[in-house]
Amino acid sequence: MIVVKFGGTSVGTAAAIRSTAEIVRGRMSRGPVVVVSALSGVTNVLLSMADQAAAGKLILAVQAVEGLRSRHFAEAEELLGRGAAAEELCSEMSPLLDDLASLAEALSILGHLTPRSLDAIAATGEMLSSLLVVAAYGAAGLPAEGVDAHQVILTDATFTKAEPRPDAIATAAREHIMPRVRAGRIPVIGGFVGATGEGITTTLGRGGSDYSASLLGAALGAEAIEIWTDVDGMLTADPRVVDGARVIESIRFDEAAELASFGAKVLHPNTIAPAVRVGIPVYVYNTHNPSGTGTRITFDAPRRPVSAIAGKTPITVVKVRSSRMLFTPGFLRRVFETFERHRTSVDVVATSEVSVSVTLDQTHRLDAILMELAALGDTSVERARGVVAVVGAGLADDTDAMARALAAIRGIHVHMLSLSATGINLTIIVDADQVTPAIRRLHTAFFADAPPRGQVLQ
Ligand code: ADP
Ligand code: ASP
Ligand code: MG
Repeated sequence: MIVVKFGGTSVGTAAAIRSTAEIVRGRMSRGPVVVVSALSGVTNVLLSMADQAAAGKLILAVQAVEGLRSRHFAEAEELLGRGAAAEELCSEMSPLLDDLASLAEALSILGHLTPRSLDAIAATGEMLSSLLVVAAYGAAGLPAEGVDAHQVILTDATFTKAEPRPDAIATAAREHIMPRVRAGRIPVIGGFVGATGEGITTTLGRGGSDYSASLLGAALGAEAIEIWTDVDGMLTADPRVVDGARVIESIRFDEAAELASFGAKVLHPNTIAPAVRVGIPVYVYNTHNPSGTGTRITFDAPRRPVSAIAGKTPITVVKVRSSRMLFTPGFLRRVFETFERHRTSVDVVATSEVSVSVTLDQTHRLDAILMELAALGDTSVERARGVVAVVGAGLADDTDAMARALAAIRGIHVHMLSLSATGINLTIIVDADQVTPAIRRLHTAFFADAPPRGQVLQ
């Protein structure tokens, strides 16, 4: 069995969906299980529609729903032609869109959006796209069958960022997916979407379809997990930021996980963990260039000083200075307990004898956190910062690499610096508007002799 996941642009047009059908056809002998994202841009539309509805802008919200209806119906017609098949598909999609319009109306009356209703709305994108893909595959002569993600991706009730329950997922996958694959069918499941034990819709967080794919891969003991996207694989930097970014032919699990956590959007940060647990290789390929090499993510990729550079903005830095000018026993514990109590995860940490600095992605609990930290010492907050990550399994062993990294960013104000305990990730905190120049300069420093774009890092 293999799990094959197609992202938003891979299903964003009828032509792209047809390309995915051919990719799946080429894998029939390996028992493909297909995971699909919403059509490109649809999740953003759904989330802003929910905001508009809750803010009382019902007309705008309903217009957004009708825009989604037109787009999905047009894609159905393009895939199946005008006729009974397209009509049947549209009548399957219609109730989902009608429910969206009703939800919008309810929200506009309530004037309030809860994470639970947000998930019910956001999940509709993948429910719609999976219907389109099943129908398109059928028309292309592939034996596809829709599987409802609510029955398989079982999670807790942390709406908008639900925690999966791997054992329950494994049991459900054995019941709902394996028999279909054994019977020569192709299960197609919407990514990103999950459900609590009571069947209430949850989602795995933005970009979560990758995570659905790796959870399913681990649950099924798949031989490979393939992430099909709009770039040629994992690159030495985001190609939207660095012109000469090169495809990395193979990269280690730990490096890929660090890159994903520090801004390489090509993979959801949680994608790697389930695959590592069961030792399943993850591949990243380009749907628009299926004959490309792609990237293989495994345990045994070459150990390079630097494999890639990533970055993200904005992040917030919180600094706490012990008032006694000395770390008293338990100081760090109390600082971290404060973040834990507020369910706010800390990304990068640097400490000195008297102070600790941490970076945060989420700041919705920041005011409460700061009030509590004030009891421990002098606190300060720096907003509009960004983090740049230089990632390589051999980074700490290479005496030259660190110096080269710091020389490359000469003149850029560094607010914080940290080398991960595993020695594979040098994180540098700079002003948010310096992240792009820093990434470009670091890329030039480490990949300057790079052959032109399109070439591959062995
Ligand atoms: P999908 O919709 O297929 O899930 P995403 O937009 O989530 O696609 O992820 C693909 C995007 O990730 C690329 O278009 C690229 O701009 C971005 N990206 C960021 N860093 C990297 C990197 N190191 N390698 C490849 N792509 C990257
Ligand atoms: N559609 C979801 C999102 O845009 C999940 C995904 O595409 O991975 O976040
Ligand atoms: Mg994605």
